[in-house]
Amino acid sequence: MSLRLHNFGGGMWPHLPASMLASGMHQEGDGHALHQPVLVLNASYEPINVCAARRAIVLVLKGVAMTEEENGHFLHAARVAIRVPSVIRLLEYRRIPHQSRALSRKNILLRDRNTCQYCSTTLPSSELTLDHVIPRSRGGLSTWENLVACCHPCNRRKGNQLPHEAGMKPAREPRSFNLHTSRHIMRLMGHSDDKWRKYLFY
Ligand SMILES: [Zn+2]
Repeated sequence: MSLRLHNFGGGMWPHLPASMLASGMHQEGDGHALHQPVLVLNASYEPINVCAARRAIVLVLKGVAMTEEENGHFLHAARVAIRVPSVIRLLEYRRIPHQSRALSRKNILLRDRNTCQYCSTTLPSSELTLDHVIPRSRGGLSTWENLVACCHPCNRRKGNQLPHEAGMKPAREPRSFNLHTSRHIMRLMGHSDDKWRKYLFY
């Protein structure tokens, strides 16, 4: 979920350059406050991204986004106390390109929520492998649509068979990792933060 939100011009507080604030930031209390995830909403309130609190503050200080929810922490920079956001919203609507993520083992496991797509067992990454739904030996490609998370026993059982030959079909049709999937991940993360809920569950 690394939408590029930099290269925004202008600044609401020209006397407090965001770059200076970012480098001079220090927070009170919880040392993790600046790294906590912040939900980023489009101007339309559509959730589009998650970023670290530090980055969210820079976007707010640059006048690109406004704080919708706070997380209860403060940070101090240049003699001002800034409330750390939990949810921010971009002030101008951004068209979000149909983005796809890099095809990687990590992203496939993330998409499939570390769950074997044949027996629905959830396992640590180290105990999962990737299965070619249509085996490579049968012309299957290494693509988002043909790779699924799979446990080793299922992988062995399926071998070089096609899904219908093995009687093993993926639980969910594999798809590329698009914005829809990203929202799914945002929802998983949002479960732990009440302030995110109203933006993610509707
Ligand atoms: Zn399995």
